[in-house]
Amino acid sequence: MRLKDKVAIVTGAGHGIGKATALAFAREGARVAAVDINLAGAEATVAEITARDGMALAVQADVSQAASVETMVETVLAWAGRIDVLLNNAGITRDARLVKMTEQQWDAVINVNLKGVWLCTRAVAPHMSAQGGGSIINVSSIVGLYGNFGQSNYAATKGGVIAMTKTWARELGASGVRVNAVTPGFIATEMIGTIPEKVIQTVQERTPLRRLGKPEEVAAVYVFLASDDSSFVTASVIQVDGGLLW
Ligand code: NAP
Repeated sequence: MRLKDKVAIVTGAGHGIGKATALAFAREGARVAAVDINLAGAEATVAEITARDGMALAVQADVSQAASVETMVETVLAWAGRIDVLLNNAGITRDARLVKMTEQQWDAVINVNLKGVWLCTRAVAPHMSAQGGGSIINVSSIVGLYGNFGQSNYAATKGGVIAMTKTWARELGASGVRVNAVTPGFIATEMIGTIPEKVIQTVQERTPLRRLGKPEEVAAVYVFLASDDSSFVTASVIQVDGGLLW
């Protein structure tokens, strides 16, 4: 069990990649705080973990709100006494072309995908530093590297996540805290449900592996980054995209 004795926070654990990762972390022996804006989703994930004899706690929190994040971290510390892994996974899209994008769409995505990652890391990092180590995994996207039609807001956040990852790796490295980013390609979750079938076809044709990724295939990389197997890996950006030539 690669995560035995570790305590992990997974944000956005109610669906998709976050849910698959919460299950994978628990399978590897971690105690998992499944955090989601929607408590029912987090509870469903926790029910699956405990049904397999894993240990998990459902916590409702909105990652874009400082007070909510601070309460969430206090709740996890009261439950488990420490935090070894933070997976900043919660994310949203509100797509529109440059001139059609509203301020509301812009702000919503910036607040969850960028500010949320900063708020969660700001709340957790001091505890990891005091413990003498930890692993922070920031979820970016290939869109943060290459941009994407109709996603100014989302691309800005995912590029920003990489910049914050590099910054925090420098700031926290001396206290043993590692910070890495992952850029998934197109992964079969609800998030890509709004993408037209024609675009999905094109994506698959441009992917050397000729298919979409599965949430479990991204979770496997998060397990590596959460575990001591990656003890000399920090400030890295790992692409998990089937080789997509975007
Ligand atoms: P998803 O299926 O939509 O799941 C996202 C989860 O985050 C949901 O459970 C959602 O809750 C929760 N959430 C949303 N806003 C939140 C907030 N303010 N506070 C706490 N939780 C919140 O998405 P996914 O496809 O698994 O994506 C997970 C991450 O991977 C995201 O950061 C996404 O940008 C990134 N990513 C995904 C892909 C892909 O192809 N799927 C590719 C690259 C990167 P509710 O749904 O209940 O509101």
